Amino acid sequence: MIYGIDLGTTQSSIARVNRFGIPEVLNPVSEGSTTTPSVVYFDENDMPVAGAAAKDNWFGARPERTVICIKRMMSNPRYVRRIGSLNLDPVTVSAHILRKLTDDANLKLRNEENLPPVKEVVITVPAYFGELERRRTVEAGHIAGLDVVELIAEPDAAALAYFSLDLKNMDDKTILVYDLGGGTFDASIVKIRGGKPETIGIGGDSKLGGFDWDMALANLALQHAGIHRKLPDPELFAQDDSTLLLAAERCKKALSEPHVRSSMLSFVYDRERYNINIGRIGFEAATGDLLDRTRLRILEAARRADARSDKPADEPAILNRDDSLRVDEVILVGGASRMPMAADMIRSRFGKEPKLIDPDLAVAKGAALYAHILRQPETKTNAGRPRRIESRGSRSYGLGIEISGGKKAISNLIKLTEPMLIVNRRFEGRYALASDSGSANIGIYENESDSDIIDRGERTPVKVGVLEFETVMPKSTPVSLLLSRDVSGIVSLKAACGGKEIKIRFETV
Ligand code: AMP
Repeated sequence: MIYGIDLGTTQSSIARVNRFGIPEVLNPVSEGSTTTPSVVYFDENDMPVAGAAAKDNWFGARPERTVICIKRMMSNPRYVRRIGSLNLDPVTVSAHILRKLTDDANLKLRNEENLPPVKEVVITVPAYFGELERRRTVEAGHIAGLDVVELIAEPDAAALAYFSLDLKNMDDKTILVYDLGGGTFDASIVKIRGGKPETIGIGGDSKLGGFDWDMALANLALQHAGIHRKLPDPELFAQDDSTLLLAAERCKKALSEPHVRSSMLSFVYDRERYNINIGRIGFEAATGDLLDRTRLRILEAARRADARSDKPADEPAILNRDDSLRVDEVILVGGASRMPMAADMIRSRFGKEPKLIDPDLAVAKGAALYAHILRQPETKTNAGRPRRIESRGSRSYGLGIEISGGKKAISNLIKLTEPMLIVNRRFEGRYALASDSGSANIGIYENESDSDIIDRGERTPVKVGVLEFETVMPKSTPVSLLLSRDVSGIVSLKAACGGKEIKIRFETV
């Protein structure tokens, strides 16, 4: 059995397809709901405690020993959080979250059904996650003792969960998936052809989610309380800051109820207690700029879908001239998309009535469905169900290579508008080594360009390595490179010289 995991910025879940063919979430109810907070507290002995206990008992009381929103740091190879004697990188913290999820699931599987522990998993990642974040997600899985069979883009998973409700009616449809999670936002245009969902355009923001609404609301409360301060970066939180943030999140959720016009936000700051009445209108005004950022990302996703190189010539554009969208459905995913302002914006700006279906669990359930399909022998699949979904969520980046001694320019092998599943595209290049040399440094760069050659500028590579020749090679030796990106978005590279493979030693970025 392969399980599906939604490793979210603020909440995570694990799911499977049960014996009735229905996806179900395995998180224990003790976690407070069917999701587990992606929060890890490190006790005085530096031992990790993950999940609801970390969020409810410790984040408010000991923010300096608690890690939240670690997924936002996946893209930063230099990020380290120091707690006690520990130097914690995002991979290690994510591994603790994964372990908590699988430990809980294992207990349930063993006690209720005498099933073996979770081993093989599909993990979801934001569609705009690049190679580095994808690789690090797989690494976190390995540290947690898991075999990560594949990564799947979150909107593809959400779309799959949605389609599974009624796949036949969904064929040949174009859908906008508006996924506003706790810490990340993904707008994706998904096309379904022959029962297969395929993400054809994405726009995302790794630093935009319900958490930012909480921060804005907490700052609004401070302002109403006459406290001329703003909350610092969560890493620098004191106890008052973290309890205020938790109270702000509760208030935000209360304001999402359709009939609620205002809600009380009670908190203690510098030993004073404040009770601030927050109105829906004031809240929406204070967070309007955040919502507008989601609108811009929708436009970006539509533009990218229209710009793709494999778009059939007779297919009408998704983005109309007046910025309205030509899509059949809009589905809302992610807990924060429950805020009425999200649906209101889509209605008023794009003229569509969005559907909110299982926003917290759609991604985990979709991952479980995907995992289930991976395990099905081709012949056994039910008619009309996707046999193999092409999860092409990584269209957001082009990939280029630079070899040292060249012109400090990147040869762009995979362009932004090309489909993700490019396996073994050969690129032959003559690189003038600066001198006769026994090795050459290479860097793989993600970029948002459609040009053949791009200036390296200040870009940092997602992968670096050294080509190790067997002997010293003369200047201008031609080297051919074979770049491929697998279904999970992980990149591999082979090099050859004179028909002979050259060893590449990759270094950790
Ligand atoms: P996710 O990562 O998809 O689980 O999203 C979690 C985010 O959804 C957090 O920021 C939550 O505060 C937010 N959220 C959950 N329920 C609600 C609700 N009823 N109204 C507004 N935001 C919510």
